[in-house]
Amino acid sequence: MTAATLFDLLERLTSLMRIWNRQHPLLAELQPIQVSALIYLARCNRYSNTPLAVSEYLGLTKGTVSQSLKALEAKGLIEKAQDQHDRRSVHLQLTGAARELLAAIAPPEFLVTALAQMGEREHTLEALLGELLRQIQRNQDVPGFGLCRTCRFHQQRDGAPFCGLTLEPLHQSDVELICREHQAA
Ligand code: SF4
Repeated sequence: MTAATLFDLLERLTSLMRIWNRQHPLLAELQPIQVSALIYLARCNRYSNTPLAVSEYLGLTKGTVSQSLKALEAKGLIEKAQDQHDRRSVHLQLTGAARELLAAIAPPEFLVTALAQMGEREHTLEALLGELLRQIQRNQDVPGFGLCRTCRFHQQRDGAPFCGLTLEPLHQSDVELICREHQAA
């Protein structure tokens, strides 16, 4: 496949996602950036749920993201919580309403159906897309935002997951979340 073909395919898929976002009745009151922020916050770990991390992940300015986060807070979809160790730092948490909304919309049904129709090849697709992303991240020196279980700092201590960077124990559920500090093994 050529880079131009891959670019066309990714563009088309992105455009379909935008159309789905605009047309979904449950998302009528939300802008696409607000939906993206909610989806990110549902997938990231406790080291990565800050306003700065949301900006970095979405590749948008702090000001733009700040406005969107204020709107999400006003709609009762996120709450702010002060960091227990650093009073200047704030963490963003999804409310029950946001979790219900995300459970109803993500992943989009059209994606679920198409993937199921690919049968066993879905695993190949996952592996290849993951490899492509890692390759780009290595080449471009962009923030990792990778899966915790694939991080070089990920360890097991006393039978439980442990972060070798922060030197803190992790919950079992943390290993499937994405992290801004992630570094490929
Ligand atoms: S092991 Fe890596 S990905 Fe997991 S919390 Fe620690 S730094 Fe983040």
